[in-house]
Amino acid sequence: MKILVINAGSSSLKYQLIDMDTHEVMAKGLCERIGMDGSNLQHTNVGKDEKTKIEAPMHDHSDAIRMVIDALVDEKIGVISSMDEIGAVGHRVVHGAEEFAASCLITEAVMKAIDKCTPLAPLHNPPNIIGIEACKKIMPGVPMVAVFDTAFHQTMPAKAYMYALPYEYYEKYGIRKYGFHGTSHKYVSQEAAKVLGKSPDELKIVTCHLGNGSSISAVDGGKCVDTSMGFTPLDGVPMGTRTGSMDPAVVTYLINTGMSAKEVDNLMNKKSGVQGVSGVSSDFRDLTAAANDGNDKAQLALDMFAYQVKKLIGAYAAAMGGLDAVVFTAGVGENDSATRSAIVSGLEFMGIKIDESKNAARGTVDISADGAAVKTLVIPTNEELMIAIDTERIVEGE
Ligand code: AMP
Repeated sequence: MKILVINAGSSSLKYQLIDMDTHEVMAKGLCERIGMDGSNLQHTNVGKDEKTKIEAPMHDHSDAIRMVIDALVDEKIGVISSMDEIGAVGHRVVHGAEEFAASCLITEAVMKAIDKCTPLAPLHNPPNIIGIEACKKIMPGVPMVAVFDTAFHQTMPAKAYMYALPYEYYEKYGIRKYGFHGTSHKYVSQEAAKVLGKSPDELKIVTCHLGNGSSISAVDGGKCVDTSMGFTPLDGVPMGTRTGSMDPAVVTYLINTGMSAKEVDNLMNKKSGVQGVSGVSSDFRDLTAAANDGNDKAQLALDMFAYQVKKLIGAYAAAMGGLDAVVFTAGVGENDSATRSAIVSGLEFMGIKIDESKNAARGTVDISADGAAVKTLVIPTNEELMIAIDTERIVEGE
């Protein structure tokens, strides 16, 4: 089966066509500036390693999907001969709240339930819904599956996801920890079990998705039992431009100085994190270069990041009552060996020790030192493949 994976944003749409026999990406691309001047499609035929940019008006997401299908079936740049070859479509949906603990076949009732989650992700769920509607219009009859960023975290126990506000705030507003990056945490924890030659059921794993946004999860027996992002993706470790956790009283303090709630929200999401502390960049490559040039604030930002990730590895080992593996993934986790090294240094007492000669490698690699009781793995994440795997399983099972 060939599965089209769609990740629709408000003015953009990313796609991949995956051959499920081989798990290989056949084609991928991005529609940009949907509904604006200068809209364009960037398409890659992976087999031919050929990139094409097509500039054409896309008034809405239906136009974008139509252009994607045209590119996929095009004689020159395409990879399939007709739309009928697409067996199913998997859609990334950001927030499934408590409505969705797993991926599911999209029906009218599911669409209503996704819309019900919109107040919790007002910037993300509406474009996801528009993307699904557009696909349904252009590809009627093709089964579609929704895969939620939050679903993997729905196994957390109440003691982990509840905030200590009066209980009615949970009941009335749904205020609790939801967690994000769930598709990535699920994928790398399953891959880690394969690398270790064990069943996920027998493993206690801390997965560190460290990218521009970062989150850490505790995965016990294949199920998430805690995660660092919260009600929103602002919580947890410092990120590219997000604060991560801090005393919530800082928010009211800043509002009392005269800042509006919107200004504080913008400050904490867009101007903080390693960029805010360093004043240099949100990109770890720039921070490392600046720190190596003697920039103290860039070094401080890197130190703060590594320290907070390290603390969570310890906390989650305690929460699970043990630890078999730590997994690093996403842009920083996969590529930044110095940050990995800084995170695990000092954790030898827990059995975590890496071999620096292995730490320099790329791809899926076990970087543990010989004899380390806890394995440290680097596993490239692949959220699109995870979406496609869930989609195939659901479509074939229904
Ligand atoms: P992601 O959100 O997973 O796409 O990760 C993006 C981030 O990964 C960038 O902002 C960089 O901070 C980081 N990154 C990517 N490549 C490297 C690299 N080679 N070394 C250090 N950091 C990297």
